[in-house]
Amino acid sequence: MTVNSFLYKKIIYPVPLVFYDAIIYLNINFRKQGIIKGVDVDKVFFRKAEYDYNVLKPRVFEMINSAGMVSIRKGTRVLIKPNLLLPAKPETAVITHPLVVKAVAEYALENGGTVTISDSPAVGLFGKILKDGGYRKAFGGLDVEFKEFKTSVKVDIGEPFGFIEMAKDALEADAVINIAKLKTHAQMFLTLGVKNLFGCIVGFKKPEWHLRSGIDREMFARLLVCIHRAVSPQMTIVDGILGMEGQGPGKGGTPRRLGVLAGGSSAFAVDVAICKMLGADPERLPTNKTARELGLTGYDVDVSGDYEVINNFAFPIQDSLTFGPKPVHRILRRHLVQRPAVDKDLCKLCGECWKYCPAKAISHDKKKVSFDYDRCIRCYCCIEVCPEGALKAVETFPGKIIRGLLLRKS
Ligand code: SF4
Ligand code: SF4
Repeated sequence: MTVNSFLYKKIIYPVPLVFYDAIIYLNINFRKQGIIKGVDVDKVFFRKAEYDYNVLKPRVFEMINSAGMVSIRKGTRVLIKPNLLLPAKPETAVITHPLVVKAVAEYALENGGTVTISDSPAVGLFGKILKDGGYRKAFGGLDVEFKEFKTSVKVDIGEPFGFIEMAKDALEADAVINIAKLKTHAQMFLTLGVKNLFGCIVGFKKPEWHLRSGIDREMFARLLVCIHRAVSPQMTIVDGILGMEGQGPGKGGTPRRLGVLAGGSSAFAVDVAICKMLGADPERLPTNKTARELGLTGYDVDVSGDYEVINNFAFPIQDSLTFGPKPVHRILRRHLVQRPAVDKDLCKLCGECWKYCPAKAISHDKKKVSFDYDRCIRCYCCIEVCPEGALKAVETFPGKIIRGLLLRKS
C-alpha cells in the first residue's frame, strides 16, 4: 500500500480529502525539489504486448515490479477493477481484455493475496458480461472471486460534492488495482485510468451523477478525480493492446490495434502519458486539467520502456457544449452542439438507452427512438450503453459550418 493510500484509508479516512491532497501535493513537489527521495509517482511504464498469454503474463509481472508500488503479501485482499461496461466480445475493444486482468490476478495470487474482480456494469447482467467478454473461459480454475459491486457506503469525496455513495468493496479492499481500457469518449475525450473508477458508483447512481454534473464537462471531470482519490488504487494499468478510436466509448467506436500496455502508481500520470503517446495535448483530457489544477499531477511525467508516439489516432469530434449568453444556451445547444443520433437499421429497440438516459430525453414508439435535444445534457451515456452500436454523436449542420469556419480562422 502506498504511503498516500495508507494514510487515507487507515488513518485519515473519512476526514475531508483536503489532507490527502496536501500529502500528494507535498510529496510531488518535495520530490521534484530533491527534498525527499523515493518511488517516483510520476513514472509511467510502457510495454509492447499482445493477447498471447505466454508473452503477456511476464510483461505484466515485470511492469508491476518496475512500478514498485504494489505491496501484496499473504492475506492482502486485492480488488481488481477492470472496465466491464456491458456484454461485449473482447475484439470490440469495449471492455478490458480478460487476459490482462488474469495476468494481474495471477501476480496477486502468487504474492499471497486473495483476489476479487469487481465492477458495476451500465448494462446487462454481470454474469453475461463475464461470459461474453471471455472472462469465464480465460479464468477457468483460477482461485478468484467475481463479484458485482452492489453495496454502497457514503464517503466524503471533497468539495463541491461532499458525501456520495460508493462501492463498499472498493473502499474496504487492502489494495485496489485499476485496469482500464484505452478508448475515445465523445463527451470526455478519452476514457483512461481516472475515468475507469466511475464504475465504483453502483448501478443507477451513475446516471444520477451524470445529471447532477449536467452539461458541464469540467464539473464531471472534478467528480471523476474526486472518486479516484477516494478509491486510491495502488496501481493503474491501461489496456491499449486493442484500443478504441473514433466516436467511442461504446460499440459505435472503432477498434484499433496499438499493441501497448501503460501502467504506473499514479493514474493521473498514466493518463497524461497516454495523451502524449496518442499525440494529444494532455490539457484536452478534462480529468488531466482538473488534476493539474488541484496539484495532483503535472504534465512533465517520466515515461520509460516501449514508449512511441502513435500517428493518426482518430480522436472523437467534440465541440463546446455552451455557446453565447446564458439565456440562449438551450436554443443554441439544440441547433449547434453535436448530439446523439440513431442508425435505424442497427437499432433493435432493446430499451437500454431510454432506461439509462439520466435526463429522460429519449422516447420511443414501435418503430424508432426519438431524442428531446432540449433536455439532452450530451453525456453520451446512451451511446456508451447501446449494445448494437446503433447510436453515434453527430454534428448538426449549422454546427459543422461554424466549426469549419473556426478551423479556417485558426
Ligand atoms: S438505440 Fe441502441 S440502446 Fe437504444 S433501443 Fe436501439 S439498440 Fe437499444
Ligand atoms: S439522450 Fe443520450 S446524450 Fe442525451 S442525456 Fe440522454 S443519455 Fe445523455
